[in-house]
Amino acid sequence: MELNLEEAFDGPVDLSHRFEISSERLDRPELLRVEPILFSGRLTKAHPGFVLDGEIEIRGAAACSRCLAPVPFSRSGPVHWAFAPAHRRAARDEDETELAEGDLAIIWYDDLKVPFDPLIDEELQLEIPMKPLCRPDCRGLCPTCGADRNAGPCACQTK
Ligand SMILES: [Zn+2]
Ligand SMILES: [Zn+2]
Repeated sequence: MELNLEEAFDGPVDLSHRFEISSERLDRPELLRVEPILFSGRLTKAHPGFVLDGEIEIRGAAACSRCLAPVPFSRSGPVHWAFAPAHRRAARDEDETELAEGDLAIIWYDDLKVPFDPLIDEELQLEIPMKPLCRPDCRGLCPTCGADRNAGPCACQTK
């Protein structure tokens, strides 16, 4: 999906979209599944640029890094993006405008049509746990026979 910033010139625009995510695109082998990501929000003209405020709903599961069992993750909450014209970027360092306030991630655009999918991918990437664990004391798989040691000791351990 593409964001057409131009649409907000005449007033705020309400947007909602369901993103079908292909897990191959994310290059996270531990990702087992991801539900379509739901976004709804409002694009508003700012000075300079635009802001997009909304709610995002992310749901999926990643493999436990020790035993490979699915570990669900989810997030449902606010998201905020600020868009500013790329030519303001250089000026920003000399002139601390309102854009420099806060710790906002600014998306610099050359064109009023901004690809939305990479922004959604980024939110998802942040949500996938770095080292998923099904439980803090997961015993993992036996390196010798591959048995799930959470289910009990395997034959290797009795030798
Ligand atoms: Zn586990
Ligand atoms: Zn074993």
